[in-house]
Amino acid sequence: MKNVALVVVDMLYDFIDGSMACQEAEKAVDNSLRYIEEVTAQTDPDDSGIRSIFPILFVRDHHPANHCSFQEQGGPWPPHCVQGTHGADVHEKLLPYLTEDLCFYKGENPALEQYSGFEGKNPAGQSLGEVLELMDIQNVLVCGIATEYCVRNTAEDLLKAGFRVSVLKDCISYVDAKGHEEALAAMEAEGIRLI
Ligand SMILES: [Zn+2]
Repeated sequence: MKNVALVVVDMLYDFIDGSMACQEAEKAVDNSLRYIEEVTAQTDPDDSGIRSIFPILFVRDHHPANHCSFQEQGGPWPPHCVQGTHGADVHEKLLPYLTEDLCFYKGENPALEQYSGFEGKNPAGQSLGEVLELMDIQNVLVCGIATEYCVRNTAEDLLKAGFRVSVLKDCISYVDAKGHEEALAAMEAEGIRLI
């Protein structure tokens, strides 16, 4: 595959073992890491560091403490991924592949719920969609948490924007098993590939 990028959605501690721990999250992280190591990673002969042969972009839920999605503010969720807390950090196993310019933060506006990472912004203020276009990416692989919410919404927005989208089905974690299966079926029906 050419012009490929991997988008890692919300592989953050609050969704893995924190306030909103999801099902099979550790397994999804381990499988994502294995995928990266087997498929995309190469040792860079020039600096003996690890790099990926295609870009890896990280979507990160990143809320102010008074975010509208929190139960205290009348939202559906317990507080999670609050800016500056451990719960908002990307799992340490993935850090060798993370660069700050390719981190896209969402949910920063206290009044706005934002499941999709498509409009997430990097520190330079560019959105995920914009950066994928600038990189001339056509095929986007998606892994992360949770299938029913942020993975699905991100994948659907990418598809609507004209990218060819594949979800790595062993590299996603979910809130509940039934919702996970339904979301996978819905995505497949829309034209998102499950691989
Ligand atoms: Zn959130």
